Amino acid sequence: MHEFSLCEGIIRESLRQKSIPPEDIASINVAIGELAGVDIDSLQFWFPVVAAKLQLADVRLNIDIIQARVICKSCNAEFHLQKLFDPCPVCNTYANYDFLSGRELLVKSVSAK
Ligand SMILES: [Zn+2]
Repeated sequence: MHEFSLCEGIIRESLRQKSIPPEDIASINVAIGELAGVDIDSLQFWFPVVAAKLQLADVRLNIDIIQARVICKSCNAEFHLQKLFDPCPVCNTYANYDFLSGRELLVKSVSAK
């Protein structure tokens, strides 16, 4: 049910932007980091349910997945982290990195009909 409340957050954020009247919204475009801990299938499943509940029928959810990029704090290598706690491919240090991207959940834009 975590994704149910995420859907609510996405829709409320979109309505707050007020660029388009709610009845004219065709789609909501979001960016989600691949390691943001979001279950995309579950998000897509719940979205129409939550949208209908909030009086937004027929609104599509478009999702861009953002690759998780990290920088190793031991050797400064930048790499694609596929799973949390994977080691650095250059120096093999475990879990010693800063995220550059891949943990975000952003409402990027709202498209009109
Ligand atoms: Zn390293």
